Amino acid sequence: MNKDKFDYFIKGEKNQYEVIIGLEVHAQVSSNSKLFSGSATKFGAEPNSQVSLIDSAFPGMLPVINKECINQAIRTGLGLNAKINNYSVFDRKNYFYADLPQGYQISQYKNPIVGEGKVLLDMPYGSKEIGIERLHLEQDAGKSIHDIDPSNTFVDLNRSGIALMEIVSKPDLRSPEEVNAYIKKLRTIMRYLGTCDGNMQEGSLRADVNVSVRKVGDKKYGTRCEIKNVNSIKFMQMAIEYEARRQVELIDKGKEISQETRLFDVKKNETRSMRSKEDAHDYRYFPDPDLLPLNFDKKLVEDLKKSLPELPDKKKERFIKDYGLNSYEANVLVSEKEISDYYEEAAKASDQKLAATWMMGDLFAMLNDKGLDISKSPISAKNLAELVQSIKSGEISGRIAKEVFEIMIVSGENPRKIIDTKGMKQQSDPKELEKMINEIINKNKDKVTQYKAGKEKLFGFFVGQVMKISGGKANPQLVNEILKKLLKG
Ligand code: MN
Repeated sequence: MNKDKFDYFIKGEKNQYEVIIGLEVHAQVSSNSKLFSGSATKFGAEPNSQVSLIDSAFPGMLPVINKECINQAIRTGLGLNAKINNYSVFDRKNYFYADLPQGYQISQYKNPIVGEGKVLLDMPYGSKEIGIERLHLEQDAGKSIHDIDPSNTFVDLNRSGIALMEIVSKPDLRSPEEVNAYIKKLRTIMRYLGTCDGNMQEGSLRADVNVSVRKVGDKKYGTRCEIKNVNSIKFMQMAIEYEARRQVELIDKGKEISQETRLFDVKKNETRSMRSKEDAHDYRYFPDPDLLPLNFDKKLVEDLKKSLPELPDKKKERFIKDYGLNSYEANVLVSEKEISDYYEEAAKASDQKLAATWMMGDLFAMLNDKGLDISKSPISAKNLAELVQSIKSGEISGRIAKEVFEIMIVSGENPRKIIDTKGMKQQSDPKELEKMINEIINKNKDKVTQYKAGKEKLFGFFVGQVMKISGGKANPQLVNEILKKLLKG
């Protein structure tokens, strides 16, 4: 990594500081039912309509492990290049809150299902590896609703018991930009795997952000603060920016940072103290007596490994190697599985480089403009490939292609059909072009003389005339060649 280009330091009054960030990401497992009950997990359902007696913690109810959630956690662990622990334990994490009817959250403490792993980030200054500390499974809590009634709080238990994967990074992140890249990379990997939809607006991906600062050159970490439950990348970046500056100001004044849990206030763009940071022992963790430890054989992990799709890092390498893309293009085109599928379909049926250019230029601009995902694109991969082919074969020019593209957006039609019915085919017959050009030369004898006398700028004028009488259809490359030849004569 080229450290020189990396300059996220914060200047205090006295010293220059480095920011150390670690994330605890809560990712909702894609699963039709909850971690320990058969209740549905659909987002946006009527409050308390997806709640079983287990989720509402009726006395005597026993949790039953949902095997699909276990498999999803293992798949995710494999996608993070992590060690899968064949033995893991569910623990009770005890705390009181109105939306936690059990009085404890079933989580994993000393024996998580997934151990250390790593994620690769592509930063402008090179690739950077971020360590994963662990991934454990736990239940989500319900939701307290404070804004319906001025004097009452309502509780919706639909989320209670939904499976979450808590992915804990090592304190390897150094800037808001790296956090942005890290969250996006995690999301991409999980979407490829189908283990989490990564929908941040629906709360499927949230993060607790640990921030500390230290003087540049120091080896020891400073005291950290944890900013709870931030649910957008933008807010994470804003919170880090604010929190790091707050800490720098305190240290520069000779004050101490107290370890605490803080809240990010979006409206005021500041973090505020919630409570002094609790330690693990405050939660009185102990193994849940209602759940046996997980103990699976290597074969299960091997089988899941074999069933994994090709993941973004591998796919990126292949795109560079097989399709001659550069690193930047390959990065963009593997960022979503659907995008990579679309590209491969188009590339195989046309020119690989030109297909990438058209996708990343006109196609993405159009989708962005219309707020559409690629799966809803009015232009299919097959049709884009045909358009690219028509340019490549010289049948239409790049300029005409843009017109065809516009028609395709509206009609969804095949470009062949559009080119034929609208007569948009490029004039590429040298004899025809020569005829046109001679006509223009004869009509503009004065200009030819000036051109020959050294007024080379006039070349553009001749090209313009040919385009005009050909209705924009003359093959520009051929026009250039022929013009040069005939003007000499
Ligand atoms: Mn957690």
